[in-house]
Amino acid sequence: MVVNSDKKLESVLHIKSEIMRAAGEYLREQGFVEILPVILSPVTDPLHHETYAGTVDYYGRPYTLTKSMILHKQIALRTVPRIFAFSPNVRMEPEARAPLRRYLAEFVQLDLEVRDASRDEIMAIGEGLFVAVVRAVLVTCADELTTLGRVLTVPEIPFARIPYQNATEQYGEHYDDQLSSSLFAPAWLIDFPRAVREFYDREDPTRPGVLLDMDLIYPEGYGEALSGGEREHTLPRILRRLKQDGIPPERFSAYLRFVKEGLPASAGFGIGIERLTRYICGLDHIMEARLFAKVPGAVDAL
Ligand code: AMP
Ligand code: MG
Repeated sequence: MVVNSDKKLESVLHIKSEIMRAAGEYLREQGFVEILPVILSPVTDPLHHETYAGTVDYYGRPYTLTKSMILHKQIALRTVPRIFAFSPNVRMEPEARAPLRRYLAEFVQLDLEVRDASRDEIMAIGEGLFVAVVRAVLVTCADELTTLGRVLTVPEIPFARIPYQNATEQYGEHYDDQLSSSLFAPAWLIDFPRAVREFYDREDPTRPGVLLDMDLIYPEGYGEALSGGEREHTLPRILRRLKQDGIPPERFSAYLRFVKEGLPASAGFGIGIERLTRYICGLDHIMEARLFAKVPGAVDAL
C-alpha cells in the first residue's frame, strides 16, 4: 500500500472538511435545510460566459451536467423556505482561464437560497457564514494552518460595499485581480449592470439596467468568492430577460413550466468550496484545494 506522505495536502483536506462542517452547522442554526444536489437535468444555468456543454444522452434526450443549481433552487423553495446544497458543478471552462489559478472544470458550490429574502438579508447570511467558518477553522485546525504557514484573521462585519461602477472606473473592465489585491478584508461588489449577468438576477425596479445582485471578493488577490442576488421569478419578466439575452424560451421549457405555476420571490448565492479552501489555506493555485483537480484544458486528470 502506498501511503500519502503529502502533509500539506492532508492539512488542506482537513481544513476543507472543517469548512464544510462549520458551514453546514451555521446554516442549520439559521433554519436552513440541506437538500441533495442535482447532477443531470434538461436545464441548467446558461452562465454569462462560454463553457463547453457537458451533455449526456438521457434515454435519447440531451441532458446537461449541472453548471449551477440556480433554477432548481428556485423550484425547491416552493417546498422548503431556506435551502442549501453542496452542489457539484461541471464547467468545462476555456483553456485561457487556466492561468488565472482559480478555475477548475469540476468544482463544488455551497449553493443557498431563501424565500422572500432581500439582498441585504442574504449578504448578512454570507457575512455570518464566512465569519463562522473562519472562526471554526482557527479553533479546530490551528496545527494545519501552522503546517501551511497561513495566518488568518476574522474579518469585521459588515464588509465594505463597492458599487460595480466604481470598481470598473478605478480598475477597468478586468477589475477582478487588482481590486482583490487592493483589499485587506473581504468586500462586496454590488449593483452589476444587466448586460454582464444572467437572466435570473433581479433588475432593480427603481434603477432600470441595474441588478440587485452581488459578488464577494476575497482580499490578497484571491479574487471572486461568491455570486448571488435577488431573483426574477415572474413569467413576463423572465421571458423578457431571456429575450434580451437572445435565448430561445424553448431551451428552458422544463423550467418555465414551474415559472408558469408560480415561483416564490427569493435571494441567494453560491460560494465555491475550492476557492474558499484556497483562500483559507493561502494556496497558490486552486488545484491544491481538492483531490482529482481538473484544470481547464488539461485532459490527463483522474
Ligand atoms: P458563479 O455564479 O458563476 O459566479 O459561480 C459561483 C461561485 O462558484 C463563484 O463565485 C466561484 O466561487 C465558484 N466558481 C465558479 N466557477 C468556478 C470554476 N470554474 N472553478 C472553481 N470555482 C468556480
Ligand atoms: Mg460569479
